[in-house]
Amino acid sequence: MRVSDQSIRLTKAFVNLHHLTHNMRLLQELVGSRPLWPCIKADAYGHGAVIIARHLTSLGYKTFGVADVEEGLALVQAGIHATFIVLSEALPEHCHALIAHNFEPTISTLNMAEALAFEAEKAGKRIAIHVKVDTGMGRLGLQPEEVQKFLDQCVAFPGLHIRGIMSHFPRADERDKKYSLRQLRRFRQVLEAIQEYGIEARHMANSAAIFDLPDSYLDAARPGIAIYGLHPSREIANPRVNELKPVLEWKTRIVFLKEVPAGTGLSYGHAYHTKKRSLIATVPVGYGDGLSRNLSNHCTMLVHGVRCPQVGRITMDLTLLDVTALRGDVQLGDEVVIIGRQGAEEVTADELAQKLGTINYEVATCISHRVPRIPSQLEEEK
Ligand SMILES: *Cc1c(COP(=O)(O)O)cnc(C)c1O
Repeated sequence: MRVSDQSIRLTKAFVNLHHLTHNMRLLQELVGSRPLWPCIKADAYGHGAVIIARHLTSLGYKTFGVADVEEGLALVQAGIHATFIVLSEALPEHCHALIAHNFEPTISTLNMAEALAFEAEKAGKRIAIHVKVDTGMGRLGLQPEEVQKFLDQCVAFPGLHIRGIMSHFPRADERDKKYSLRQLRRFRQVLEAIQEYGIEARHMANSAAIFDLPDSYLDAARPGIAIYGLHPSREIANPRVNELKPVLEWKTRIVFLKEVPAGTGLSYGHAYHTKKRSLIATVPVGYGDGLSRNLSNHCTMLVHGVRCPQVGRITMDLTLLDVTALRGDVQLGDEVVIIGRQGAEEVTADELAQKLGTINYEVATCISHRVPRIPSQLEEEK
């Protein structure tokens, strides 16, 4: 694929928009005609929220989940025309910005409802809100038995329009769905009790639920990780999860090569000594780019389609690779793949996550702002 490669930084994250389209089609097939509201919080899970939002709007998606007001503002300022649902709880001090930009907050306190209603009426507006119910996440949200009273209080404010009611799954990515099904029943009981409020959008499903809990689709679904082509977990039962295609590739280039004798200590703390005469490559990526120092001596990168062991401590800006196996072939400037495919080999975000004892969500999200995100150029492919 051709990519626009304008950045002079040697370490880049490439964003494959064809794969994004493919993943959206797959998810849309699963949920049918219901709307999908992609979650593009945390800079689209590290993929670049402006790039992702621009492409998704071109595919017709109109509503996105962001973490907070600031993330929504950044997208508005980048020229993205869409509805932004603010997924984390805001405070009254955010009401002005929420209303000015027609963001849709998710709320679970009367304090916030009052503040929003007051500001909305002052601005001569009606603000759409989503009421959050804690059916078992144990984080934000009203308790199920509080919902009806809360709705009555909200309905009394002319400045508020209750557009949605939502809940969130903490365990939909587990093989055993007992807890999630119980949670869904609890949410459905709430929904039954509040039918007469005529709330247009009841939503609960995240990526894992889109694959494994079709009963949770309701009126809209909020996929995050899956749109980026990453598996919600290794316990998803639906085989279609294997059709996802990773959107992000993370690459760098060799900037230095040197032969060193056996017994040479490498990088800070000499956490690695060469066992034989070795060819060592230096690449300009480090923990300042989001490559965790905990991967030191514990990961591989691809050069010429070969897995090359990373050696010595990963430093802020630079990392070393043992490329002895490629002696004679490898040159300054050669491409190095940190996450992605090269030839027949592939390093996945899941592989790094497993080594780090974390999840792919964190690996992608931690790629730092120093790394330019480069979208594939769709036009050139046609
Ligand atoms: C992030 C988020 C999602 C998306 O979750 P994934 O597991 O990434 O699909 C859905 N709903 C809420 C409230 C979220 O914060």
